[in-house]
Amino acid sequence: MKTILFLLFLISSVFSDKLETLKDKQFLLAGVKYDYEPFGFVNEKGRIDGFDIDLIKYIATKLNLDVKFKQVTSSNRIKLLKEGAVDILAASMTHTFKRDKEIDFSISYFFDGQALLVNKKDASKTFKDLYESKIGAIKGATSGNNFKKLFPKSKIILFNEYPQALRSLKGGHIDAITTDLSWCILQAKKSNGKLKVLPKTFSYEPYGIGIIENESNFLDAINEAIADSVIDGTYANIYEKWFGKLPAKLPEVWSEE
Ligand code: GLU
Repeated sequence: MKTILFLLFLISSVFSDKLETLKDKQFLLAGVKYDYEPFGFVNEKGRIDGFDIDLIKYIATKLNLDVKFKQVTSSNRIKLLKEGAVDILAASMTHTFKRDKEIDFSISYFFDGQALLVNKKDASKTFKDLYESKIGAIKGATSGNNFKKLFPKSKIILFNEYPQALRSLKGGHIDAITTDLSWCILQAKKSNGKLKVLPKTFSYEPYGIGIIENESNFLDAINEAIADSVIDGTYANIYEKWFGKLPAKLPEVWSEE
């Protein structure tokens, strides 16, 4: 009996289609950031908000699904997706070949590059001095490894979440934080002149929506929804809402035929 049940489970997991399962369930459980404004964060009303949130809400609507949110961090997001704890990741996640060995990614929907955020008093330091100092990065993010490869003399200090790194920088325990430019710009803006972003980016960070591997119907539907958001103007609207300007680069839109 046990063997039969196991075989049935195996057959159903091989032939089940994630999109169909979601349609039965009627909602999408999205893994999103709670600490990475303006992509995913808790707003002043206590609600989950941000660019990734607006985009995933749009994608869910296109799939005829409701959406619910679950917090993920840079270090646990891929694990939670693979375990089935979330259906999808909309979590400021750069599409890399290493990550692509574990999960699948949508077309790139946002294009960033990592920068350095420093205390104002250090903004005049030479790049060389900073490269050899204490640089905060977040566990599981691309930024720490990228930076160490480029500047082997740097000392990378890893934090679990972004607010911890920010507190450490403000307290003068580290010399800089390296992560994507959009987050750095917003932190500098919110700091009343105390923090500055250095005018240089070191990497290319194209963001993708993450899903488990080999679910091509699900992936096609997500890609189509992203393209639809570009075509009907929603993408530009939500971009302008969160970044105060129109996007310089749009996600690609494939032709109909
Ligand atoms: N985009 C980078 C990454 O995927 C940094 C932002 C993040 O930690 O999510 O690692």
